[in-house]
Amino acid sequence: MSLSEIKARVAKACLDAGRAAESVTLIAVSKVQPNERVGAVLDEGHRIFGENRVQEAAGKWPAFRERYDGIELHLLGPLQTNKARQAMDLFQVIHSVDRSRVAQAIARLAQEMGHCPEIFLQINTGEEPQKAGVMPAEADAFVAEARALDLPLRGLMCIPPVEEEPSLHFALLAKIATRNGLSGLSMGMSGDFESAIALGATHIRVGSAIFGERAYG
Ligand SMILES: *Cc1c(COP(=O)(O)O)cnc(C)c1O
Repeated sequence: MSLSEIKARVAKACLDAGRAAESVTLIAVSKVQPNERVGAVLDEGHRIFGENRVQEAAGKWPAFRERYDGIELHLLGPLQTNKARQAMDLFQVIHSVDRSRVAQAIARLAQEMGHCPEIFLQINTGEEPQKAGVMPAEADAFVAEARALDLPLRGLMCIPPVEEEPSLHFALLAKIATRNGLSGLSMGMSGDFESAIALGATHIRVGSAIFGERAYG
């Protein structure tokens, strides 16, 4: 696959869903990818990227930012409070705010630093014990807390369980967002972004379908 093929599939999915193509933001998930591949996607004109780890992003994006204007970075992986300051300097959007302590740390730092990334709250729609995010039953209270903290709340994010039909999780996330008056939905990855778009995704996070398989180790 390539960036242009993915963009064409996104446009088609939007058309099929009766949505404007601009209503979906394509985040190219560059974690673990070699710099040549990331550079190639930058050369094609793409500027919106996602990373999972603050440390990895801090190691590779400052150099890209010297060479390319207008890069927008999205943090997708779990955030430790002791990395919050660094994350808030690097990233324009954080999708993985998954507990009170992290929300509070970001709010406190936002006061001090005078700026704050846009925030998505991560919901553990599959109620998986090992997965980050608040349980669906706690989602409304977490949204209320984020609002009370004055965070720039954009919406909700989920990562469905691998072995389940993702659309059930996308529909659940959309329902929780609607009843809380939130429009942003960060959902859909390489294998399922079309169904996420059909169910209202505003931010899709696509890695391997753009860059190729990640080579770990
Ligand atoms: C790695 C990752 C993605 C991208 O996954 P692909 O299957 O490669 O598209 C999306 N979201 C999150 C949170 C990820 O960690």
